Amino acid sequence: MSNSSQTPDLAQQLTQIADVSIDHEISFAELTTLHLGGRPRLAVRCATPAAVVAALQLLDRRGVPTLVVGGGSNLLIADGELDLVAVIIECADVMVDVATGLLRAEAGAVWDEVVELSVDSGLGGLECLSGIPGSAGATPVQNVGAYGVEIADVLTRVRLYDRQSGQDHWVPVADLELAYRYSNLKFTGRAVVLEIELQLRVDGLSAPLRFGQLTRALELSETGEHRPAADVRAEVLRLRRSKGMVLEPDDVDTWSAGSFFTNPVVSGTLAEQVRTQVAAERGAEDAAKMPCFPAGEGTFKLSAAWLIDRAGFERGYPGENAPARLSTKHTLALTNRGSATTAELVDLARTIRDGVQHRFGVQLVPEPVWVGVSLD
Ligand SMILES: Cc1cc2nc3c(=O)[nH]c(=O)nc-3n(C[C@H](O)[C@H](O)[C@H](O)COP(=O)(O)OP(=O)(O)OC[C@H]3O[C@@H](n4cnc5c(N)ncnc54)[C@H](O)[C@@H]3O)c2cc1C
Repeated sequence: MSNSSQTPDLAQQLTQIADVSIDHEISFAELTTLHLGGRPRLAVRCATPAAVVAALQLLDRRGVPTLVVGGGSNLLIADGELDLVAVIIECADVMVDVATGLLRAEAGAVWDEVVELSVDSGLGGLECLSGIPGSAGATPVQNVGAYGVEIADVLTRVRLYDRQSGQDHWVPVADLELAYRYSNLKFTGRAVVLEIELQLRVDGLSAPLRFGQLTRALELSETGEHRPAADVRAEVLRLRRSKGMVLEPDDVDTWSAGSFFTNPVVSGTLAEQVRTQVAAERGAEDAAKMPCFPAGEGTFKLSAAWLIDRAGFERGYPGENAPARLSTKHTLALTNRGSATTAELVDLARTIRDGVQHRFGVQLVPEPVWVGVSLD
């Protein structure tokens, strides 16, 4: 029996589960911030953690390929028909204890609403993560980060549904092996985040501020200073908007997956080679400004956006008529201008990756999760 012929029966069984609803018509273009991707066999909307667990138990027992979807802001999905079921997490309760600074959010809560609530409740720690699209449950998946702060800084534990053992339990953060834009949940689908728990500051002050662009904008005299969380949130949102990094439905510069490539971590030798080459091509003054931060064990983190620009790909590349383009506000965001296909966006990603590799010998690695498509 073909997979699609099993679908009516599967949908029928899924509708028996409390707090589950089925969407037969939706496409990934409607579920992702890139507005790209074809149709799943079905979309299953789960309004409670118990519904998520029950739906996945059924789908896994029947061997149905699945994709867990939060806000769709870190997904690049193939065009056409996809032989998988989208499991959309919509449980969204949030609990804040202002006396202790403990915040718990169910996985489907909109992340920026969680940040806003924390700041409005007088709690500090999340303000630098303002404006990141997507769901609370996805924040540990790639250890989201911005402006010098990562979710790892405040995450205490995570409620996981482990799809192999069938356990629904709270696990300590250490179990997730969080690192730069990584956890052992990313790309594996081994477990689903049902809830996250954060420990925030009760004094209403921000995390220590170290990110140059933000400390300059806030006119801090020293790195590591704190400011009222609400002031920092406002500044972070302003900076992000100027780069098209806050979702705006009518602004195609924000029809992206955010930063398309992670910042590459390279050897000291390669970092120096890049600097020398930039000096030869653009002069010593430009080379001296190359972002280059120690990343441990003799390695250095470079800026993917800076390398893309210096490799000759300017904002808006390849130009006005292209359906998939670099954002006109930020070279690191690949955008769908409204009529692009996934194939066209992948072609652009390949051109950028190969161009940087050819020019500087640095390999850029995509940050989003790819489904049914590959860069190679
Ligand atoms: C304009 C823009 C700006 C961005 N800026 C940043 C930024 O500053 N910093 C940053 O780190 N990221 C950034 N991102 C990327 C993205 O917003 C984050 O990675 C976000 O956490 C993804 O959340 P989501 O709910 O949309 O996940 P989705 O895109 O729906 O899913 C992403 C992956 O996580 C998995 N997943 C989703 N929910 C769960 C769950 N509950 N349990 C287990 N797995 C799950 C999915 O299966 C998929 O593999 C940006 C994206 C955009 C579009």
